[in-house]
Amino acid sequence: MAIYTCGHTTPDSDSICSALSLGYLLNQIGREAIPARQGALNPETQFILDKFGFEAPLLKTKFAGCELFIADYSDRGLAPADIDEATIVGIVDHHKLGDLTTSAPLECWIRPVGCSNTIVKEMYDYHKVEIPANIAGIMMCAILSDTVIFKSPTCTQKDIDAVRELSEICGIEDFGALGMEMFTIKSQMDGVGIRDLILRDYKPFDMHGTAVGIGQLEVVDLAVFDTMKDDFQEDLEKLRIENNLHTACLILTDIMKEGSEILVASSDKSIFEKAFDITLENNKIWMPGCLSRKKQIIPFLEPAFK
Ligand code: MG
Ligand code: MG
Ligand code: MG
Repeated sequence: MAIYTCGHTTPDSDSICSALSLGYLLNQIGREAIPARQGALNPETQFILDKFGFEAPLLKTKFAGCELFIADYSDRGLAPADIDEATIVGIVDHHKLGDLTTSAPLECWIRPVGCSNTIVKEMYDYHKVEIPANIAGIMMCAILSDTVIFKSPTCTQKDIDAVRELSEICGIEDFGALGMEMFTIKSQMDGVGIRDLILRDYKPFDMHGTAVGIGQLEVVDLAVFDTMKDDFQEDLEKLRIENNLHTACLILTDIMKEGSEILVASSDKSIFEKAFDITLENNKIWMPGCLSRKKQIIPFLEPAFK
């Protein structure tokens, strides 16, 4: 039976590229694998796949009866709805340990690094499998995306070393310029609806029994949002009510100024304020130095719901 390699819902570049890079590796070591994705590609990911000549992985949302090697998550909230009827044979991930459990032994590659593809690179090295140039290219781009071109506090020396090696393999020396090109594409919001932008990189969380949703947009200049912020805030509150969330946040990250403005819609905003020891003004706050949802938002917000 083929193993599906697949990342989280609302896939980002790491989820798509790790499905492809992990799928290729498994096929090389004699385990038939089919890369899959749980949703549409975002513009940055489309750019990466076009650049290195890949088709999008298979769109698949039902996995009952299938074997699944999951990538870039271990939270039930980011899994296919029928995950309990699938067999998880492996996990490669770089987030906090989530709440998925299995009934059979599985292979876990979970590391505190900046990107799942950094761990997939480690898997290639472990299995002594050569990385083709085009696979190296998408892996490198995923790492540059997840680590915000090494600026994110989630970035480790392992991520930097992986990018250096992968850049040699794919023959792109100036990976910094490629990273900036990716983030420039990420910064283009023209013609995209407000709700689609909120959901572009959105994750639902169960924080000690409380439903919270957090979206993030990373751009090279926050000014692109100047005319959208009121609409964002209005729609964030709508989304919160529609989805029965206690709190819905949108993190607007300026990768050049290296900080984020957080928009908050909440049934009790004092929890967010207490979590970060701040006072929201008009339901928003600028947080200097804040680039990472995983490392600088969730570890503070989650305990506040205990
Ligand atoms: Mg991801
Ligand atoms: Mg990732
Ligand atoms: Mg990200």
